Amino acid sequence: MTDARKAGADTRAGIAPRAFLESVPLYQPGDEPCAVDLSDNTNLWGAPPAAARELRSLSSGIVARYPDLYSEQLRNALARHFSLRPDMIVTGCGSDDVLDAAIRAFGEPGSKLAYIDPTFTMIPTFARLNGLVPQPVALTASYDADADGLLEQKASIIYLCSPNNPTGTTLTRKSIEYVLETFDGVLIIDEAYAEFAGESVVDLLSRYERLLVARTFSKAYGLAGLRVGYMLGASSAVAAITKVRGPYKVTAAGERAARTAVLEDQDWVSARALDAVSIRQRLTAELQALGLAPLPSRANFVLVPVHRAPVVAAAMRRRGVLVRAFGNLAPIDAALRETGGSALRIGVGPWDQVATALTALREALAECA
Ligand SMILES: *Cc1c(COP(=O)(O)O)cnc(C)c1O
Repeated sequence: MTDARKAGADTRAGIAPRAFLESVPLYQPGDEPCAVDLSDNTNLWGAPPAAARELRSLSSGIVARYPDLYSEQLRNALARHFSLRPDMIVTGCGSDDVLDAAIRAFGEPGSKLAYIDPTFTMIPTFARLNGLVPQPVALTASYDADADGLLEQKASIIYLCSPNNPTGTTLTRKSIEYVLETFDGVLIIDEAYAEFAGESVVDLLSRYERLLVARTFSKAYGLAGLRVGYMLGASSAVAAITKVRGPYKVTAAGERAARTAVLEDQDWVSARALDAVSIRQRLTAELQALGLAPLPSRANFVLVPVHRAPVVAAAMRRRGVLVRAFGNLAPIDAALRETGGSALRIGVGPWDQVATALTALREALAECA
């Protein structure tokens, strides 16, 4: 009994959150921290050097005042980086924030949000929280979007992710352009891992007003703790998302560090992304040598189907290694069909960490066999 009830003062029924929230899960993938944490795809080489220097040089004075309303300086730096106008960029508290705001800005409650499956687990949650109906459409056996399947949903918004989380695979430009040519609604493409694939659809923004591209400083840019993300799109769409997002969503420190990273850390970010790619290839080969069938990743992580992934992950955790386990992903390829959609997602970092994870995986597989 709550204190208020005990006092006997209030005899009315208790408060209850809106009924639909019962079907919305709390995002809570995590376990206790581990010595080696390859579970969240962040930059395990750390923060970029110029941005880190900028953070150390910040005076405490900046925290007593509000930050810039709409991160004008960061948007100016990004505009130069992408050769776009600043009014084609909206920033947010992580790309989560701009994805959520874009769905709220363009998705009429009751309409559908169609998305590739499997994908980023926050997407059906953001759909529900904004009153939309999430509609998964399985990736094809070649890891491409089923464009016709997505279009058939008559959704107001289609969400694609390339490279996709958790598969690591990329969508073909052909299927993306087909959706852009055929769809009447808003197409969101999440490029959280674009820096690792070296490909992007940002160039298509000049041709398609219905295209929104989400990016983040949390992965290749090594600034996950500061929570900065952004979305690129036509200025009219960006104006609507900005209104929905609201003021002051990027902190003063976050804006300064992210802007510095854009202006001064490009070489570091590219070099670490190349490191991640070559270690990913090495990890993939080692997994294949274990007789496993990892999906062909273009990101800084690898999805590898294994039986009873949550049990294997728990055995790895006991050996000080945290990876992300999935129990029942859409069985889009032969290996995932074979495991019933059970798989581990293993992030890539400096080789010693990945080697430790491989040792833990070998032992865990032997233990769980
Ligand atoms: C990690 C991730 C994000 C984003 O995160 P923020 O930290 O909120 O910028 C967005 N989309 C995908 C697919 C991700 O994996």
